[in-house]
Order: sequence, then structure tokens, then C-alpha cells
Amino acid sequence: MGDEEVKEEAIRIIGMFQVLPRLVVFDLDYTLWPFYCECRSKREMPSMYPHVKGIIAALKEKGIDMAIASRSPTADIANTFLDKLNIKSLFVAKEIFSSWTHKTDHFQRVHSRTGIPFNSMLFFDDEDRNIQAVSKMGVTSIYVRNGVNLGALRQGLTEFAENQNTSEKNKQKWLKKYAQNPSLSDKKNPK
Ligand SMILES: [Mg+2]
Repeated sequence: MGDEEVKEEAIRIIGMFQVLPRLVVFDLDYTLWPFYCECRSKREMPSMYPHVKGIIAALKEKGIDMAIASRSPTADIANTFLDKLNIKSLFVAKEIFSSWTHKTDHFQRVHSRTGIPFNSMLFFDDEDRNIQAVSKMGVTSIYVRNGVNLGALRQGLTEFAENQNTSEKNKQKWLKKYAQNPSLSDKKNPK
């Protein structure tokens, strides 16, 4: 599948969903490209996983913002590679720094930079501990085994829509309960 075909297919997949994330956040190493950039030289020409270029182009075309959250200790190499791949300008936020936390501080920064709530974000990463930590913040987080591809995109959008559905249902349940018994709030705030 060439980049154009992947892009068309990604656009078709995105079109299947009524609720979409406002921001898609990607890890770099073993998520967008199949290596650790700290083990590479800036002089090299990097290549990404086969579907990445098409998927990024589709998200761009559909007006969905994108960001990077990477714990790479070599932000200079990562930035050089993003530049060489001609995708650097497509990201509204690039948080690339090593950290003891499992990307929770990366996401705090992405949030303060963009103002987008965590539950409107979709995240892809190849490390389970990052997935665990970031999903606890309310971000729909998808573990990728062989980099971002069309299957992961479809899974991510499906889980995102399900999560939105669940929180909407909980809200409706609460509103219904409150409508039936308005004194629920009075008990907490006695006049
Ligand atoms: Mg990684």
C-alpha cells in the first residue's frame, strides 16, 4: 500500500466515526519509527513505519490536531528526524524530554499548551507503563506492537468513541437521578 492509498483508507476510517478526538498524540520511538533515536546519528535519513505518513496526512486533512509525547533523551536527534521527514510543522505540540514519570508530565504540558481536555485526546505508544499512566488521566491510550498502522487507528477511534459514550451515559444517569431527587444537592449544601 502506498502513502496515498493509506491516506484514502485512513480518511474512510475516520469518516466512520461521529465522535472524534480533538488531538492525537504520538510517541516517537517504536511508534512512528522502528528505532530508538538515541542510537542513531543526525546525519542519517530516517524512515517511519509504512502506514505512518498516510495516517498523519489523513488526520491533517480531517482537521484533527496532532502532538508528540516522547521520553527520548536526544530531543535534538528526534527534531532533526522530524524535520528530515517533512512532518515537523504538522504537530501543534512537541514534548520531547526524558522524565521519571511515565509521560504524565508530558501530557500536562501538552494540555497547558493546547487547552484541550485529556478526555478529548487519543494517544499511541509502544510501552505498556506509559499506556497505564496516561489512560488514568482520562486519555484514550492505545498500545501499539508494530508501530502506528491502520488497524491501530481504527482501534483507537473505536475506543475513543466508546469512552465518550460511557462518560455521556454516566452524565445522563446523574442528571436523571438529580431530576428525580433535587434534594440530593441540598443535603450537601445545607442552607
Ligand atoms: Mg516508544
